[in-house]
Amino acid sequence: MIIGVPREMKNNENRVGLTPAGTHELVKRGHQVLIETHSGAASGFRNDDYEEAGAEIISTEDEVWGRADMIIKVKEPEEHEYKMTRKNQLIFSFFHFASNKKLTHAMLDSGAICLAYETVETTDKTLPILVPMSEVAGRMAIQQGARYLEKPVMGRGILLGGVPGVTPGKVLIIGAGVVGVQAAKMASGLGAHVTIIDTNIQRLRYVNDILPPHVVTMYSSEYNIRKLVANHDLIVGAVLIPGGKSPMVITRDMLKLMRPGTVMVDVSVDQGGCIETCKPTTHENPTYIVDGILHYCVTNMPGAVPYTSTIALTNSTFPYVLQLADKGWKKACLDNYELLKGLNIINGEVVYRGVAEAFDLHY
Ligand code: NAD
Repeated sequence: MIIGVPREMKNNENRVGLTPAGTHELVKRGHQVLIETHSGAASGFRNDDYEEAGAEIISTEDEVWGRADMIIKVKEPEEHEYKMTRKNQLIFSFFHFASNKKLTHAMLDSGAICLAYETVETTDKTLPILVPMSEVAGRMAIQQGARYLEKPVMGRGILLGGVPGVTPGKVLIIGAGVVGVQAAKMASGLGAHVTIIDTNIQRLRYVNDILPPHVVTMYSSEYNIRKLVANHDLIVGAVLIPGGKSPMVITRDMLKLMRPGTVMVDVSVDQGGCIETCKPTTHENPTYIVDGILHYCVTNMPGAVPYTSTIALTNSTFPYVLQLADKGWKKACLDNYELLKGLNIINGEVVYRGVAEAFDLHY
């Protein structure tokens, strides 16, 4: 199979979909690997590293898209890439279709096969490719949130961990999944006062078992959220409905309850966000202010730490890449339930319920 890796086009997206180690393994098995020049540079991989591993370095993205049977990407295709996709081409990438109507229609029109990282799912309902990126984003949410609480960048002027004789900052985390637990771990490690809420009591039980006693758990209801937002300094949105749009848990009128300079990091922005006033931002321009509340809504947070993220991501994607390359997408998906769950679009048809429901499409 010819496998193509185009350079990522999203703002400050510095990850790459395949490492030289993965290239070496694919080439050893008789596949051909095309790497767009400098795709891996920001993750610490030079063209020479890929060439040594057996890849062909390609100077244009058109040639990579044009020759490859399977495209491996990190983030969804950008608008100028839509026209490069073609019928029967397999694209293995993050897509987040449910929050992007234009992309969904473009991929339907292209006739491509879209296998989405975010919906690959094990039989026990975990999302193995989302997990490592959620781990990175959860830890980053606190790092970024702590930074934006500083006064010069319009925050409340609070040091999250406090100092002896001064109470620490208060962090509210909405969603006790992978992002939420990692965020709670970081925030509690800094010494902040942490409250974490979820609608799933099992998750709260788990958090209660594994995190320090100063991490408080609560049920996620509108009533509780209204009370909590009024006295927390940093609010992290970390909810997920697998394959669907995020539920709206912080409505615009709640902003009036918060103190000016409160920081909200909506990690779930890539699924539409769980904060009504959330709109996607980039690493170049990560924040904006609404009613005195600072919003950070970067859709590709792990892209800022590519050395860590590329390795973490490809550790999870590569076993699937091998199956897809060796067997072709049909047999690989029939043999492996996890990959089957990743199929979102096949030759102009939506085959994933959450995406069809988001846009009222035939499923
Ligand atoms: P997860 O499935 O592990 O956890 C989501 C949690 O949200 C679950 O425990 C669920 O019970 C809870 N939840 C659902 N509805 C809720 C509600 N109304 N109130 C409170 N909790 C609720 O998911 P995850 O891996 O932690 O991912 C969370 C979000 O972060 C996803 O939208 C994911 O796409 C996103 N994400 C974004 C980035 C980024 O760069 N912005 C990176 C990684 C992940």
